[in-house]
Amino acid sequence: MKITIVGSGYVGLVTGACFSEVGINVVCVDIDSKKIENLNKGIIPIYEPGLEDMITRNMNKGRLSFTTSIETAVKESEVVFISVGTPPDEDGSADLKYVLAVARDCGKHMTDYTLIVTKSTVPVGTSLKVKEAVQDELNKRNVSIEFDVASNPEFLKEGAAINDFLKPDRIVVGLNSERAESLMSSLYKPFTLNGHPVIFMDIVSAEMTKYAANAMLATKISFINDIANLCEIVGADVNKVRKGIGSDTRIGHKFIYPGIGYGGSCFPKDVQALIRTADENNYNLQVLQAVESVNKYQKLVLFNKINSYYNGDLKGKTIGVWGLSFKPQTDDMREAPALYIINSLLEAGAVVKAYDPVALEEAKHHFGDRITYCDEQYETLIDADCLAILTEWPEFKFPSFKIIKKLLSKPLVFDGRNIYDRDEMAKYGFEYFCIGVRSKK
Ligand code: NAD
Repeated sequence: MKITIVGSGYVGLVTGACFSEVGINVVCVDIDSKKIENLNKGIIPIYEPGLEDMITRNMNKGRLSFTTSIETAVKESEVVFISVGTPPDEDGSADLKYVLAVARDCGKHMTDYTLIVTKSTVPVGTSLKVKEAVQDELNKRNVSIEFDVASNPEFLKEGAAINDFLKPDRIVVGLNSERAESLMSSLYKPFTLNGHPVIFMDIVSAEMTKYAANAMLATKISFINDIANLCEIVGADVNKVRKGIGSDTRIGHKFIYPGIGYGGSCFPKDVQALIRTADENNYNLQVLQAVESVNKYQKLVLFNKINSYYNGDLKGKTIGVWGLSFKPQTDDMREAPALYIINSLLEAGAVVKAYDPVALEEAKHHFGDRITYCDEQYETLIDADCLAILTEWPEFKFPSFKIIKKLLSKPLVFDGRNIYDRDEMAKYGFEYFCIGVRSKK
């Protein structure tokens, strides 16, 4: 079977690489010709563990190729996955122009039965719009070609995307035709042999499932952050509270780590888009509105701590920053708390020296020459007044506190990810501020 993946970003590349890994012939398409030119040279545009090796291996086997020509790809494929971006529109709703442009391209170029699968995260009702766009193009061509549409939202996590795709908790597929079901079953068979199920459902429910999943995860994060802020006020330790509640199996330990808010390309935009969908249907999603507003507040909690430590006068203070990506194991900085915190520091007149294991190049697009980029974590601390930790990269978890203390003008750490222990930090002689735990005076 030959399939096309349109949109060669995080989702498209991982999807294409993983399908080719199990022996399917895959063509990945993108409108960004530079990206395709690089991919054809083996240059991968994103950092995702294991992806480069998998892409190279399958390109060499002739099962994976890259092109800007959607026409050739669609003509040759029985299944076309749409995995282009769905960024937020000005009002927070998902902008569908890229998805619908691909749907139109499918209608313009398909010559035989085609199953068009939306993998991008799209609001309820989008698959119907995809169907209409394809049909419209077929009508313009005055041809009658059978096709189906399906919704197959993607649940992969950046940083663990390959593993998530190869061994998914579940695969959700929304469709309304037996032919489409049989095609999707056979495509996903290699990934379901060890018991991970494909959950078939109607299209509307599949579209909703993706948003509900991300909204639930965002809710857990905002919930624990809200509790963390209260813990700090009343003198409780959120790290202990987290363990105490997480051991209840109805709650669980995952996704209740306090921090500086959720970021990334999905949670912020998907929460907004779901609120928007509710608005359009005259329903008020009260919980999610609170989730969003807690997150906005939380993104500046660490900045506020730093600012108030210096009595609102950050002019000339140098802050060493460890971590820029929105989470570890990725170079993705979309909606990263680091963007908000560093911009606030700069606006307040502070100097920022930053290190991240993989996101420095990406950071240059955001900050240009407004901050200093360091190739090594301790370099950020030379002539710095304090250290701020914004991403919980594993390599930050056991640093040399001796070196940190020696380099900083005073032993002062602001930890937005609670990766150190307050009592130990006090023993080492640090003033230590984290989330949801009062600092030791
Ligand atoms: P991305 O921005 O990394 O990649 C999108 C790609 O689509 C870009 O390379 C862009 O050039 C290309 N593109 C845009 N219009 C095109 C067109 N007409 N023809 C061909 N290519 C086109 O986006 P992403 O992070 O991969 O996300 C894609 C979708 O998947 C979004 O809807 C997102 O919400 C969803 N999603 C993302 C993740 C994630 O972790 N990144 C996880 C699950 C779902």
